[in-house]
Amino acid sequence: MTSAAALPISEPLQLLLDVLRARGPLTRADLGAATGLSRTTVSGLLAGLRRLGLVDDAPDSAGQPTGGRPATLVTFGRDAGLAVGVDLGRRHLRVIVSDLGHHVVAESGLRLEVDGHADAALDRAASVIDDLLAGLSRDRSDVLGVGLGVPAPLDRNGVVGSSNILPGWVGRSPAHELQQRLELPVLSDNDANLGALAEAVWGAGRDVEQVVYLKVATGIGAGIVLGGRILHGVGGTAGEIGHTTVTDNGAVCRCGNRGCLELLVGGPALVDELRQSGLSVAGVPDIVELARAGDAGCLRVLADVGDRLGLAVANLVNLLNPEVVVFGGDLSAAGELVLTTLRARVQRSAIPAAASSVRVVSSALGDRAEALGGVLLVLREAAFGPRLLSRALAPA
Ligand SMILES: [Zn+2]
Repeated sequence: MTSAAALPISEPLQLLLDVLRARGPLTRADLGAATGLSRTTVSGLLAGLRRLGLVDDAPDSAGQPTGGRPATLVTFGRDAGLAVGVDLGRRHLRVIVSDLGHHVVAESGLRLEVDGHADAALDRAASVIDDLLAGLSRDRSDVLGVGLGVPAPLDRNGVVGSSNILPGWVGRSPAHELQQRLELPVLSDNDANLGALAEAVWGAGRDVEQVVYLKVATGIGAGIVLGGRILHGVGGTAGEIGHTTVTDNGAVCRCGNRGCLELLVGGPALVDELRQSGLSVAGVPDIVELARAGDAGCLRVLADVGDRLGLAVANLVNLLNPEVVVFGGDLSAAGELVLTTLRARVQRSAIPAAASSVRVVSSALGDRAEALGGVLLVLREAAFGPRLLSRALAPA
């Protein structure tokens, strides 16, 4: 084992580790450009990290468009550490384990009643993480941190607000509680924010600066990534698009307001609407399946949802002028059955300059987006750099 003195935790080293962890495998040239460090400094630091087994070379699978020798990428070694993402939905739990080189190495998804069962849900999340680690012959000491997504706005202390969005969790701090169970650092964010982050880094908004992720499922939320950073707002409620008022005299919403968008296009609203027409459906997946089979009522409902969502998205496009709006959540399985009317409405109702510069696309990461965003929270957290090194430098 190389001694700690041989590799002091200098500022350039810290910077290089942060960039490599946040951006994933990079060529030496890109690593130099992203850190601003000289070629010689990068080479020296990488040699030290290689001796510690922290970094490795990987072939560039994208290859060279010019047909030359494939570029070699610098990546974190397989044993450098792991990052865990957890998505606690209202009715599901998904856990994804990634290595620090941005490769998913294990994952699990299961149905779980989360709202009103906070303790049981967190216990289950902890046990699923342990099971996945055991399956990899690893344990919690290999994990740099956990990123947790919750389907409710979180304030700056990570506490679920008293907004009736997730009633069983109000006043609780899911990250703190999971941290106590795991004895690992846990970061948390709203699930739509994490979906936005993942789509902006790995998905449909890749290489785009301004991305809005629209999550349409039981509830409706939006995550907003501007210049690579999640927009939270002062109290953590930025992007609560499902609770924008679309009719003054509509029904009363769980948020306490009246006439919210969610009451028109959320999963339960669609199910109710179809039941009134005599069609029995259990939820959004049923509606999508029937629509695909040609059911006229379901096709009509989905087309109308696209139009209603499109109006909300048009307003959002006017306000934020994003380059990409990513359509995600359960309803995104409907694809073009919703997107066609959604796009048409955006073109009709947003100001022409904003409407012409936005692309409205399907999620590339599907129902894994939120948990992958949790992984990214960990990979992008600079505070985890020193932990990585102290682990590598610890006496065997
Ligand atoms: Zn509401």
